Amino acid sequence: MTLRRPIVAVIAVLLAPALAHAATYTTDNFSTEAPTPELAKKFGDMAEFYRKEKALEWLGREMPPWPSRCPLRVQITSGSAGGATTFTFGQEGGRPVVTSIRMEIRGEVKQLLHSVLPHEVTHTVLAHYFGRPVPRWADEGGSVLSENEEERFNHDVRCRELLNAGRGYRLQALFRMTEYPRDMIVLYAEGYSVCAFLVEKGGGGREGRGKLLQFLALGMQGNTVESWNQAVSRVYGYESVDALEKAWLDALKTPPARVVARDSTAPGGAAALMTSGTKTELRSSAAPGVPLLEPPVKAVRAATPDDEPSRPAAPSPPDFRPAVRPLAPDRPPPVLLPPELPKR
Ligand SMILES: [Zn+2]
Repeated sequence: MTLRRPIVAVIAVLLAPALAHAATYTTDNFSTEAPTPELAKKFGDMAEFYRKEKALEWLGREMPPWPSRCPLRVQITSGSAGGATTFTFGQEGGRPVVTSIRMEIRGEVKQLLHSVLPHEVTHTVLAHYFGRPVPRWADEGGSVLSENEEERFNHDVRCRELLNAGRGYRLQALFRMTEYPRDMIVLYAEGYSVCAFLVEKGGGGREGRGKLLQFLALGMQGNTVESWNQAVSRVYGYESVDALEKAWLDALKTPPARVVARDSTAPGGAAALMTSGTKTELRSSAAPGVPLLEPPVKAVRAATPDDEPSRPAAPSPPDFRPAVRPLAPDRPPPVLLPPELPKR
């Protein structure tokens, strides 16, 4: 993230006065630093709440207390939002474990509390479960599952836009990525879409999440084309990752019933997104194995942590909050339908 360094430096300087008055609040597992005592308490309590909630959602049980508190640094800013969680991994009794965690989040209070914080806390659950770096697409995609409906909807829209623009990754490539690709937004959006599909496929809720973890554990063993093919076959019954990819894309092409129902009744919503009533011939279900390299999407509201992430085995960049833009008029019409609107 070398390019971001100057921006990071500027932000750090601007924030310096506010940080001088930071308050700290400690709970069992977090040491939360925020601009005021009230905010520190609010975020500390919510971090503990999500720590329990997300572990129950994914594992069906709470995580044991961490050996040392996770520093959680909260910065309130307007506009962009994001976060970064840094892990170190080690061994304990021959088992891979997380040895330390550090978390930083930045943005508006509401978005931090309802999207960014649960997202970052979900990373800790996944890291705890595996004790080592989680495949990127699933680490981010699984964490986006914890965000609020609006953000998940945004990721869904973004995923379709990216696939339509030919920027998607083949799942064979996505699954084996151990580092963030240059086209990072794709990893978040596509990772989320695939995770959501697999959780549903696995029965939804806790059961679906459990199956996803099982699938990841198998695929990670070796992290080869073969290991992922075997994992997908054993856990989901597809012949191969390519067969899973086809099923996932078919699901994206299938209009959810409620979108159709709302088509004429949701001005500015699904109907507006369905530009020109376009048809659904999937041109490039075969997303390119090598992504088309385009300039970064300008609408990305990137988050910039003060520190370069320093997880040695697997450096983690800050989380993106992609903004949704209307499709550019000069783009080819969408071949994948927009997602269902979030429930109100
Ligand atoms: Zn993340």
